[in-house]
Amino acid sequence: MNRRRFLTILGSAGLASALSTAKTAHAAGGTHTWPYHENSYGVLHDTTRCIGCRRCEAGCNKVNNLPKPDKSFDDLSVLDKNRRMTPTSWTVVNKYELNGKPVFRKLQCFHCNDPACASACFAKCFQKQPDGSVAYDGSQCVGCRYCMVACPFYVPSFEYDDAWDPLVVKCTFCEPRLKEGKLPGCVEACPMDALTFGRRSDLIKVARARIKNNPGKYVDYIYGEWDAGGTAWMVLAPSAPVAASKDSHQATGHEFASLGLDTHLGNRPMGELTGGALGAVPMIVAFWPVLFGGAYAIAKRREAMHKAETETIVKEAKEDMAAAMDAAVRKIAETQGPGMADTARQAMADALKARENTCANCGHHGEDK
Ligand code: SF4
Ligand code: SF4
Ligand code: SF4
Repeated sequence: MNRRRFLTILGSAGLASALSTAKTAHAAGGTHTWPYHENSYGVLHDTTRCIGCRRCEAGCNKVNNLPKPDKSFDDLSVLDKNRRMTPTSWTVVNKYELNGKPVFRKLQCFHCNDPACASACFAKCFQKQPDGSVAYDGSQCVGCRYCMVACPFYVPSFEYDDAWDPLVVKCTFCEPRLKEGKLPGCVEACPMDALTFGRRSDLIKVARARIKNNPGKYVDYIYGEWDAGGTAWMVLAPSAPVAASKDSHQATGHEFASLGLDTHLGNRPMGELTGGALGAVPMIVAFWPVLFGGAYAIAKRREAMHKAETETIVKEAKEDMAAAMDAAVRKIAETQGPGMADTARQAMADALKARENTCANCGHHGEDK
């Protein structure tokens, strides 16, 4: 099924489509935990070696044939401001400060072991691959952007500037290069050996050895070994003890937090958590993107549809889905108790509100609001 066909079914069939995808969504998300691939690859980013030269950004740009940036990769003034990934910058290096010293960290997709983006996507656009990469296939993407909400690292970006066929974009782990036995472009370009590519299990041993053999140099922790259920890309941070005060007895983790990393993600797989919140109410997983992406998906086909037809479909779809969601909440109350039904109802209300705010403020797709 190609993307256009998928959108057509989604937009036209309304409830029937949503109901039929509910099972798929549950299978894709819900209670699953992705199988852990023992021999999968990963990358260790040793921030004690990183000098913020941005060669990795240039390497990524080159091997992926991305558009030239406004400012050259030699221009380090961009480091004055922290940046996020964009559809044309799949990795960025940011400068942070630890005890008054600059520390640089490269941002890209972490290629999570159990990716939240995948569990959140009812169209199954994301797949964890045995090589460790999390691949995105946009052929069935409806542009709901729920993956962007779900990702704990704010990685996926959306091609807002593409009016006709916007997709979600993120680092691919250079999967095509891995298949050819080549290094990821960023790893190959790094002049400081700050990025080490290898089997994830070996990288953990390498990281432990560096920590052990360099007392006081590193925080005794490998970010990503367990965080968010484990990630293929992991980070080492320089140790930067802070003086204990009566208000601050414990500095553990502050280094990673100072590098812009979330130290409160916990060890439970994020996909499981997303599944717990949303997969436990599988109808929401199905309706969420349909509700919030459906009107948009229909609008995307506006060049092929008459305006009145669009309005009718949207109106009917909304009525159908409102009725089906009531039924879903009743069913959830029967099968999973009133607490979960309340959670489901609240989640829908919150999401609707968030969507309304987004539509009111974003300035995009003006006529689609
Ligand atoms: S970092 Fe975000 S986009 Fe990348 S695999 Fe994890 S959840 Fe998905
Ligand atoms: S792995 Fe490839 S796509 Fe990802 S940041 Fe490195 S060069 Fe870019
Ligand atoms: S190329 Fe290497 S040293 Fe330079 S910014 Fe990237 S990771 Fe750091």
